[in-house]
Amino acid sequence: MIQKKEFSNIHKQVILSNQKHKCKKCGMKFNVANLPNFGYADGNIGNNTKTNLQILCLECSKIGKKQ
Ligand SMILES: [Zn+2]
Repeated sequence: MIQKKEFSNIHKQVILSNQKHKCKKCGMKFNVANLPNFGYADGNIGNNTKTNLQILCLECSKIGKKQ
């Protein structure tokens, strides 16, 4: 079983700013009513490198998790 590794707050801030505080998929801007969801781009929860961090809105992160 793979141990989940959380992304560091610095990585989160860097990627948020790279994405201009918008959802990577639909481009919706984050705010208090639309909080950013931090996800793993390759689906590997043990990979917490900066390049594996993708930030989506709630709706898009739900779609990605289809189960
Ligand atoms: Zn979205």
